[in-house]
Amino acid sequence: MTEHTNTLLGIFPKKIEELKKDGLYRSFVPFSHLAAERGHAVHGTDGAGRVQVWCSNDYLGLSQHPEVIRAQLDSTVEHGTGSGGSRNIAGTSAAHVELETRLAAWHGKERALVFSSGYIANFETLSTVISALPGIVVFSDAKNHRSLIEGILRTGCAKHIFPHNDLDELERALAQYDHDRPKLIVFETVYSMDGDVTPVRAICDLAEKYNALTFVDETHAVGTRGPTGAGVCEEAGENRPTFVQGVFSKAFGTVGGYVAGPDAALDYVRSHAPGFIFTTSLPHSSLDATLRSLELIQDGDALRRALADNVRHLKQALRAAGIGFLDADSHLVPVLVPGAERVRRVARVLFEEHDVYVTPINFPSVPRGAERFRITVPPFRTSGQIDDFVAALRKSLDS
Ligand SMILES: *Cc1c(COP(=O)(O)O)cnc(C)c1O
Repeated sequence: MTEHTNTLLGIFPKKIEELKKDGLYRSFVPFSHLAAERGHAVHGTDGAGRVQVWCSNDYLGLSQHPEVIRAQLDSTVEHGTGSGGSRNIAGTSAAHVELETRLAAWHGKERALVFSSGYIANFETLSTVISALPGIVVFSDAKNHRSLIEGILRTGCAKHIFPHNDLDELERALAQYDHDRPKLIVFETVYSMDGDVTPVRAICDLAEKYNALTFVDETHAVGTRGPTGAGVCEEAGENRPTFVQGVFSKAFGTVGGYVAGPDAALDYVRSHAPGFIFTTSLPHSSLDATLRSLELIQDGDALRRALADNVRHLKQALRAAGIGFLDADSHLVPVLVPGAERVRRVARVLFEEHDVYVTPINFPSVPRGAERFRITVPPFRTSGQIDDFVAALRKSLDS
């Protein structure tokens, strides 16, 4: 390397020092989740330590469901481990076609497209759709996920960030524009950090009144809400959103993301979105596992009832132990532990003394001073495990 390139690269150690000074440096704890012992994982490299994980996005425990595992294993034996190409180059399997058909029907939309992740689904669909509509103004909730924000920013379009779920402000912003100016409202239904739920009907009413398209991220709601698990829109009997996005990486317990919506718009995305076209498609076996998850999610409400029972039990136990939490109307239970140092220290005590793992959530995911744990209780958790967890949390908070 030359003097010049060394000088250039010298910036990075300095930037990392800054991150450490601000308490924003991230360290990843390696975990190997154990399917035979659900909710547990071994950590470290020698495989000796065992912990319970209480912050997983695998909301229904389906990533370790025997039937989902079996579907992926059988399909792997039949089709192999990789898809062999992009969607365009021999990478569209029967499972892609089947899944897209079923997802479209589930959300009551004309078409669905599967992407390699929820992030890519949001980024690619938003950036492609917005770019195709000159003069469009985008109205984006202040707490929207990074993937939505980046998809909007990518286009350089005119935009309004409205305060989180503040429909008066949203309406004020919408009303500034000509009725015929193209508009798009972008929001989520269940917000991950606070666990709060969006009044989707009211937003759709505004969209109708002001002639706006809508794009709704149901990431945390697919699988967990609605009579067949299709999300908050299904629960609210609301089919007006133009585009509905969901992921496989959370309640489905697999990997991938999708958008359902109007036929021609998604057909256009299919042909234009670089992150849809120029990347290898998901393996057949992974999608077969997702199809099995979808069947389990759609098959009655037993999983959702068990999830709700556990959430109720957890909240009662937290209350009894005098531990404050955000009592949101969803399966997400945020426990506030303000202070970047403090939340990290409590997490360390839980880990080292109680074999419990929860990720400390810091700025920029939440505002400074609103640090927290985001607790999840999949259906397989027992009452005894929940009580033991709360006791460990109480002790760690007091330590
Ligand atoms: C996790 C998440 C995504 C991204 O999904 P991945 O499949 O993990 O890429 C998108 N939107 C929201 C709101 C999320 O929480």
